Amino acid sequence: MNGNYDVIIIGAGSVGVPTSYFLAKEGMKVLCLESNPSSGQGQNKAAIGGVRATHSDPAKITICKKSLEIFSTWKETVGTEIGWKEGGYCFPIYTEGDEKTMRDMLPIQKKFGLNIDWIDAKGIARAVPGINMNGLRGGTLSPDDGQVSPLLATESFTREAKKLGVEFRYREQVKKLGMQGKTVTTVETDRGTYSAKTFVNAAGAEATAVCEMAGFSVPVIPDSHEAGITSPVRQFLAPLVVDIRPGPEGMTKNFYFGQVETGQIIFCYTPLKPILGTDRRETSEFMPILARRLVGLIPRLKNLTVRRLWRGLYPMTPDGVPVIGKAPGIDNMYLGIGMCGQGFMMGPGVGYNLASHITKGRPAMDPEIYELLSPNRNLGRGKAERLA
Ligand SMILES: Cc1cc2nc3c(=O)[nH]c(=O)nc-3n(C[C@H](O)[C@H](O)[C@H](O)COP(=O)(O)OP(=O)(O)OC[C@H]3O[C@@H](n4cnc5c(N)ncnc54)[C@H](O)[C@@H]3O)c2cc1C
Repeated sequence: MNGNYDVIIIGAGSVGVPTSYFLAKEGMKVLCLESNPSSGQGQNKAAIGGVRATHSDPAKITICKKSLEIFSTWKETVGTEIGWKEGGYCFPIYTEGDEKTMRDMLPIQKKFGLNIDWIDAKGIARAVPGINMNGLRGGTLSPDDGQVSPLLATESFTREAKKLGVEFRYREQVKKLGMQGKTVTTVETDRGTYSAKTFVNAAGAEATAVCEMAGFSVPVIPDSHEAGITSPVRQFLAPLVVDIRPGPEGMTKNFYFGQVETGQIIFCYTPLKPILGTDRRETSEFMPILARRLVGLIPRLKNLTVRRLWRGLYPMTPDGVPVIGKAPGIDNMYLGIGMCGQGFMMGPGVGYNLASHITKGRPAMDPEIYELLSPNRNLGRGKAERLA
């Protein structure tokens, strides 16, 4: 038995790694267990790296504001490149209904101090050079949002966490939790047994199975999404662009893309019908559909060379909102799960607040807003937003 840990985290991904870092900063002795051979090899590496605070949900706004603060200052604080690019998010709008949806969100976004505005079609054309102007009504632009490399960020967080004493044990899958009544006492992996005072479930798409090991259930349903990346070209596109129109081919709900700091165009779409399950093999239908949408929106992109495609999982909840806080009915377990399509951007903000919750008994953010993410809410209700 290996013991004496203050906290054991299950999962070294978008949430688990920053959580370990912020817990260690609070002086905790932390062990992070991960079934993959290194950090970020679950869904973290599938993310295209969009980071925005411009949501409509107050809890997501507050958490992502913190993440943006952490990501955007990381290089000057820690000295490591994580590919931060402050280019904003741009939603070009072509229909009256979509214009209303976007304009209706502005008051709450402004109430939370977000830098976002409706701009006219000419302004959108300046932000997205070469965009199809046919029917373009204008759109929103939020210049303080941005992009980060999920691979570089998670590697850097891991390195900094290790410097603070966090122990990472890779290729160890948690198989069982030892329980004494309502208290978790141990985790058993395929290679050992470990004890700690407190446990964190940050198991991403496999989070429900870990909850069930402690005798309760929270629905986290894997929903697969494909993405791709081109060869690099000269920087011409500052924002990450989201086209929220359903695709003319009848298969896609929205699509989004951006140019990363090193010049590649990275892209993704949301299938109209969710593709539930854990299949991560790329499909032959993705690229023809995506290419038509991309070239339809910005015709000059027809000259790009696609280098690589991949498919990953959104760990979805029924209401599209993450589940963060104390596990229901368990004395010493916390959840940072159900991140949906926004777990990379939420990771540092979630880690920061979970570390405060665990060490100080309250989150760093307004507890009333944090409560909106509570595992005790009615998780059966609501409409899931499937967008990064
Ligand atoms: C195509 C695509 C594009 C995306 N784009 C974006 C984006 O632009 N911005 C954004 O914010 N999000 C994006 N996402 C979503 C994002 O990738 C996820 O929300 C996020 O990675 C989830 O973080 P997590 O920490 O919950 O899970 P993960 O990063 O998957 O981490 C969970 C870890 O737990 C480990 N684990 C699970 N069970 C066990 C166990 N029993 N024992 C040991 N280890 C275990 C897993 O191996 C995994 O490494 C995208 C997703 C996809 C698929």
